[in-house]
Amino acid sequence: MHTAAAYALPAPDGSFEKVTIQRRELGPHDVLIDIKFAGICHSDIHTARDEWGGSRYPCVPGHEIAGVVAAVGSAVTRHRVGDRVGVGCMVDSCGVCAPCLADEEQYCTAGATMTYDSVVDPAVQPGGHTLGGYSTRIVVTENFVVAIPEGIGLDVAAPLLCAGVTLYSPLRHWGAGPGKKVAIIGMGGLGHVGVKLAAAMGAEVTVLSHSLSKQDDGKLFGASAYYATSDKQTFRELRGRFDLILNTVSANLPMDDYLRLLNLDGTLVILGLPENPISVKPFNLAKYRRSLAGSMIGGIAQTQEMLNFCAEHGIGAEIELIAADEIDGAYDRVVASDVRYRFVIDVSTM
Ligand SMILES: [Zn+2]
Ligand SMILES: [Zn+2]
Repeated sequence: MHTAAAYALPAPDGSFEKVTIQRRELGPHDVLIDIKFAGICHSDIHTARDEWGGSRYPCVPGHEIAGVVAAVGSAVTRHRVGDRVGVGCMVDSCGVCAPCLADEEQYCTAGATMTYDSVVDPAVQPGGHTLGGYSTRIVVTENFVVAIPEGIGLDVAAPLLCAGVTLYSPLRHWGAGPGKKVAIIGMGGLGHVGVKLAAAMGAEVTVLSHSLSKQDDGKLFGASAYYATSDKQTFRELRGRFDLILNTVSANLPMDDYLRLLNLDGTLVILGLPENPISVKPFNLAKYRRSLAGSMIGGIAQTQEMLNFCAEHGIGAEIELIAADEIDGAYDRVVASDVRYRFVIDVSTM
């Protein structure tokens, strides 16, 4: 067994506590990673505070992991000791279903094993559920470990493992590139990376944000236009404008207002997940043959492709680095949308 320090929530309404956890002995295909940085994703908060129900405790969140390989199993070929590597939202999947064979492990029909809060055999993770990246070490099977290219700092790479691929995958799937008009709803942890990625792909990028308070940043990240959705005029002016709209906001939005911003064959993709059902007027889909779609993170091969793309284009997340004992306060600030743009835990402070 490998001992690691971790920050865990003992119960939904508790505070984070420093604990000692065990990681499994390396199997032939396992990689032991010394974690250097871990991003704080809004999903971590929903899970840690049991807002989706059924969370398991102690809860060690963290699925935006960047670190260095400390040891490898006897049959590992993809990574070597000393390599800069990352782990995202998943640590395993069945490997044989149609989505897995199509490199879309996030849609594994047996259900992918998520990096934290997934039930597993105690031989996989002592305690019987996975424990994430708010810890000093993790053991992951080599196929779910990606390389972080030189040229991206490990701290700004960490959020790319979830936020980055969550935006990259739909941008690629729906063909963002030169000649395409893309709008990103929301300029938070997800949205700001989306702006950078879509701009680097050559698309014309517009930000649709509640206010204009982050307009300067949006332009700096590559947006050519920035509109406040609190202004009714925005929806009149942009009617029929976009080929692709990515919605990163997890609050319920007036979907019809946004659907009307799509042009012929345009698609509105839902990435943020509101708790409540959404409703749309069917006419707004029928007109211009519009689509309403969803997308969930991305596969491991595409995560690697995304990191390579980011290195090539000098893209990292914008982060605020915090110490491990500041997680509780950071959570409150994320909930209050008071972060530019992603908190990242400096794991050396554990
Ligand atoms: Zn996430
Ligand atoms: Zn599968």
